[in-house]
Amino acid sequence: MIQTGQQDLLRAADDLAARLPARLAVSARLAYNYRWSWMSGGPDVFRDVDPYRWSMRRENPIRLLVDSPDDALIEAAKDRSLVARAEAMEQTLKAELADPDATGSNARPIVFLCAEYGIHRSLPTYAGGLGVLAGDVLKEASDRHLPMVGVGILYRQGYFHQRVDTSGWQHEYWIESDPDRLPAALVTGPDGQPLTVMVNLWGRGVRLQIWRVDVGRVPLFLLDAQRSDNDRMDRWITARLYIGDRKIRLAQYALLGIGGIRALRAMGIDPAVVHLNEGHAALAPVELAREAMVDGRSLEDALQDARGRTVFTTHTPIPAGNESYVPEEVSRVLGGYPMELGLSEGEFFDLGRQRPEPDEQFGVTVLGIRMSRQVNGVSRRHGEVTRALWHGLFPDRPVEAVPIGYVTNGVHVPTWMAPPMRALLDQHLPPGWIERAADPATWEPVQDIPDEEAKRVLQAVFSLKLDPHVAERIAFLEDYDMGMAARLVWGCDVWVNVPRPPLEASGTSGMKSALNGGLNLSVMDGWWEEAFDGQNGWAIPGDSSLDVATQDLQDAAALYDLLEDEICHDFYRRDERGVPRAWVRRMKASLRTIGPRYCATRMLDEYLGRVYELT
Ligand SMILES: *Cc1c(COP(=O)(O)O)cnc(C)c1O
Repeated sequence: MIQTGQQDLLRAADDLAARLPARLAVSARLAYNYRWSWMSGGPDVFRDVDPYRWSMRRENPIRLLVDSPDDALIEAAKDRSLVARAEAMEQTLKAELADPDATGSNARPIVFLCAEYGIHRSLPTYAGGLGVLAGDVLKEASDRHLPMVGVGILYRQGYFHQRVDTSGWQHEYWIESDPDRLPAALVTGPDGQPLTVMVNLWGRGVRLQIWRVDVGRVPLFLLDAQRSDNDRMDRWITARLYIGDRKIRLAQYALLGIGGIRALRAMGIDPAVVHLNEGHAALAPVELAREAMVDGRSLEDALQDARGRTVFTTHTPIPAGNESYVPEEVSRVLGGYPMELGLSEGEFFDLGRQRPEPDEQFGVTVLGIRMSRQVNGVSRRHGEVTRALWHGLFPDRPVEAVPIGYVTNGVHVPTWMAPPMRALLDQHLPPGWIERAADPATWEPVQDIPDEEAKRVLQAVFSLKLDPHVAERIAFLEDYDMGMAARLVWGCDVWVNVPRPPLEASGTSGMKSALNGGLNLSVMDGWWEEAFDGQNGWAIPGDSSLDVATQDLQDAAALYDLLEDEICHDFYRRDERGVPRAWVRRMKASLRTIGPRYCATRMLDEYLGRVYELT
């Protein structure tokens, strides 16, 4: 495990513990590692301190413990059950942290680079699916004791909130987050001062500090330019995720890619593999090449070497989703960086061009593909779409032979499965099933769960539905985040997803719903194109050869036909004991086929076997 910054987190936890009643010191230590968020009963040890404050503080355990009045804390410290549960969790965590790495204790780590991470709703570093997937990868790597390190950015105004007023107008607002109230600590050097690295942007140095957040055994290092020694404008580069201003966004990508590699060096970390999750960090392998040239390697050797270490996952299915910049924009942001590689600006721009032509833009996806030894899309269908999209980069090959594969996304089971569902499966699947979630045999006993029982548990999960709001036909949900996503996938009978193919590169929400007994009703696109088998949900054809208007009409007709003819029929048809047999049969088929295929365990198996190829 990576030690750098560990002491800094321990110190922060000790500082918090010192402000709490002695018996709650254990809660302070738990709060500084997100492992609690996917332990059975984990959130409860914080919620039980003060349920109202817990929800008002976005389930942030640091804010809960810092903001709770003394009498509430003293009361909680008297709760023997709460303290005993927290102590047991700490023992589990300590034991996990003390275990050796799965690949040998001196293994160099897999470095995962991404612009966003969805770890938990209390950490405002994500916008949507890309981030949640990245978070699920880190958690799964932690469960499997893989030597992985995440690198990203700490956005001070990470959360974009959404509110709809009574006239239906949507308002957006940002809330500033205070890193001192996150389970994060600045990584310090031997002199006790924050460790920093420099990246030159628009001709001046921007200094980055590094926060550490622990996700089980996996450290997530978040870069931050908000320092008083930076130019006033430069402090804001890392303020907002996917900021609209193009030059600031490109500057963020430069900080993530170039600054990310420099931060690793400053912490003494030498990556075995650099995994670019999307093109935002595609300057990282360029920086690896630059380093090798400083060490005296030739440009060719250095590029070769960087490619040998880099793998790239693309998530975008359409050309417009792949960001590109005109050469002048790149020059303005990166300044003399190309020269440090001994490249003319033209040669540097060509790294990000499909058919090197002077007026072609510099694309981060092209750069990622050119600088990686392995490239993959995120579903079988998306693999095909991606090969066609980037055929121009491999003009000598037929489109089927474009060297871009796929690893279909999967979701982290302990994060996305509702506690009652987890308890039901704990009862019926073999012990330790969650570690063998990718083995179809693990899920077979689902077949034998008595129908009445699959129903009782679901009633418990679905009791949410008694909420009077659901009586209305449509509800618009404001402020979607991981907390709301969890509640939706826990309590939903049918998950409807109607993208226009091939816009859904993979999609993961339907997987989360399936883990909780929900049935998918989706257009044949992304993951559903490979998962649907006729028995485990319902499919809408989604013929992408038609024009959009005809396609929409056909899909809408198919959707309503299915709802009327099959879905309502099966849902409301109960036997004399009140069990909808046909529905339960489909639920079991869904859980048995989707559980083992679309879990993060299978996804990481494939990354390890086909993409990382650790030696
Ligand atoms: C799972 C999730 C997503 C991704 O949904 P897709 O189906 O992959 O588009 C986005 N946001 C949140 C908060 C999620 O939990």
